[in-house]
Amino acid sequence: MANFIQGFRCTLCNKIYSEFEVTTTCPSCGEKGILEIEYDYNSMKKFVDKCYFKTNPDFSMWRYYQMIGVEKKHIPKMLKIGGTPLYKANHLHKSVGIKSLYIKDEGQNPSGSLKDRASGVAVLKAIEKGYKTISCSSTGNAASSLACHAARMGLKTVIFVPKRAPIGKINQLSIYGSNVIMVDGDYKETYELSKQAIDHYGFYNRNAAINPYLVEGKKTVALEIAEQLDFSPTDWVAVSVGDGCTIAGVYKGFYDLYMLGLIEKIPKLLGVQSSGCAPFVKAYETKKPLEEAEENSIADSISVGIPRNPYKAIRAVEKSFGSWVSVSDEDILKYMRKLGSKEGIFGEPAGVAALAGIRKAVTLGIISPIESVTMIMTGNGLKDPVNAEKATKPPILIQNDFKALEKYLSDKGEN
Ligand SMILES: *Cc1c(COP(=O)(O)O)cnc(C)c1O
Ligand SMILES: [Zn+2]
Repeated sequence: MANFIQGFRCTLCNKIYSEFEVTTTCPSCGEKGILEIEYDYNSMKKFVDKCYFKTNPDFSMWRYYQMIGVEKKHIPKMLKIGGTPLYKANHLHKSVGIKSLYIKDEGQNPSGSLKDRASGVAVLKAIEKGYKTISCSSTGNAASSLACHAARMGLKTVIFVPKRAPIGKINQLSIYGSNVIMVDGDYKETYELSKQAIDHYGFYNRNAAINPYLVEGKKTVALEIAEQLDFSPTDWVAVSVGDGCTIAGVYKGFYDLYMLGLIEKIPKLLGVQSSGCAPFVKAYETKKPLEEAEENSIADSISVGIPRNPYKAIRAVEKSFGSWVSVSDEDILKYMRKLGSKEGIFGEPAGVAALAGIRKAVTLGIISPIESVTMIMTGNGLKDPVNAEKATKPPILIQNDFKALEKYLSDKGEN
């Protein structure tokens, strides 16, 4: 048996399709008819139990390949994705005001972000389906991760990024040999252009919400967190939100484990956005439908004015009894310094937003100080040196002279 997929359900009209009837969205609802992969949990249960995890020698995300519906055949040639560390904070839990804090460091993936989990699946699916070229539009990380894994597996890429994408991510695209289209516009406009190109040229579509397999890749982060905590995940899991695919994936992973009887409850999910671009938070607070927002934040990866996966993201927070908060750019910069200086982890702004969000939620009484929380640190700080520079003071230049050094250190009170 290849996999446990039962069908592809449209999240809008509820119609169920088979694997061979659909590639992206629901044929009758169009682009908004985002599909969800449903599994036969009764069959999966017979195969995926605690023993399955204990005896599995693969410590990458591919240890779960049967749970995400990809074939095994090409996996040995892939880079190692996932299997990232989950650290218990040594110091930082005190700064955010909670008893126990865990940090899932997704910056350690091959291209430096959680997006590798989705791009890996996209590349495998493109190969399974016989495509030669794969395309997406991205604020940066989906782009660089796709370029990375496509390069490894010999697929061509056509990748659309808005001109504001951080330099580290653009350099990754060039080094991975991608065909980069840098669009003179924001992410919304970049997305529209990519859509036209994908329709016209028939590339394989890695646009996050549209491709139902990508959430399955992203859910592996939740499967890992649960396993790393011996199937007793923390009370809360905090994750930053742009399009909403990541938080939807996190929910799906915990949901699968719950349906398999491997965890007793699904953690509450805290969706964190930047106050410069917070359409989900606004819709939650005003109890109104999601409205387009401006894209105005240093956290480029979550600066998404029109989220592409609104239904799944809102449902993830709702069903988990979670909440939404927004954080300012100043708070993000402050927590970039704290995460680096107190735990030795360098995150990009969007990755650290989740941490600032935990602090905010504690302040607002949403998270209680006695609850345990996992933050998903979604992206590596080296990707965005310009914003890292904003978070700190540059070092002082001293003369190449020991006396000058002595004076500098004694002035600083270091010696
Ligand atoms: C993409 C991304 C997110 C948010 O994921 P969405 O699916 O867009 O909600 C958060 N952090 C980083 C670093 C990302 O690259
Ligand atoms: Zn539909």
